[in-house]
Amino acid sequence: MTSSSILHGQTAIVTGASRGIGKAIALSLANAGAEVVVNYANSLEKAEEVVNKIKASGGNAYALKADIADEISVNQLINTVLEKSGKIDILINNAGITKDGLLMRMKKEDWQSVINLNLTGVFFCTKAVSRSMIKQKKGRIINITSVVGIMGNGGQSNYASAKAGVIGLTKSTAKEFASRGITVNAVAPGFIQTDMTKELDATPILKSIPLGCFGTPEHVAGTVCFLAGDPAASYITGQVLQVDGGMVMS
Ligand code: NAP
Repeated sequence: MTSSSILHGQTAIVTGASRGIGKAIALSLANAGAEVVVNYANSLEKAEEVVNKIKASGGNAYALKADIADEISVNQLINTVLEKSGKIDILINNAGITKDGLLMRMKKEDWQSVINLNLTGVFFCTKAVSRSMIKQKKGRIINITSVVGIMGNGGQSNYASAKAGVIGLTKSTAKEFASRGITVNAVAPGFIQTDMTKELDATPILKSIPLGCFGTPEHVAGTVCFLAGDPAASYITGQVLQVDGGMVMS
């Protein structure tokens, strides 16, 4: 744990924290002193590795399985955390998938499953934590969207629609919850090296990144940690912070 421990005493849930960006966010929040709930869908061993790593460096964490695309599963997850930890201070809506394909050939199932997890899952989790956050008059919700939700992307109409939807959801919930002491922001990564991007042809993408390199999960985690921090980010809500090496400038 760092000496600053700015999130000491706070409980954070990170959806999809067994791998990639979610894992880096979990480690980073724990390093800042938060107790972290490491949610996963399939990768039990990987989730346990994240928990063990946090515990080995003096932090506090536990893993919970839940399918974020399923409302019953999400409600069980949130209720379990409220029982075990007593409160939820920070929710990071990170879990996401891709099912790429040209729109003309895209199956309805591939459209629907991406919308179900990447957009409706954010709605389920936000709704499920809202009651307890409103009651405690305090909370931080950080949604992981994508630059693709801002600029669109051929072959990713399902993913781009979901991520654009997350931006609308972020701004709407920020307005609804502002008077209750809850901030809602989004982080929009560009191209980050994880399992999600390992099959993509990266060479043409690299040319579109002014900083000349791909992002790491730690780049995204640092921004998420900043948005979770008090007082540094307490006056920021309804914003979309791009972590993309300058790839998309509007
Ligand atoms: P990743 O490496 O593929 O990891 C995905 C994570 O989501 C895993 O922990 C996985 O859990 C979890 N997950 C998948 N389906 C789930 C479900 N139904 N319920 C709960 N958890 C589920 O992906 P990533 O690159 O780290 O992406 C993380 C987030 O960043 C996503 O929202 C993604 O859209 C966004 N993003 C990524 C990039 C990029 O370049 N990588 C860019 C922009 C935005 P299991 O291991 O248990 O399957």
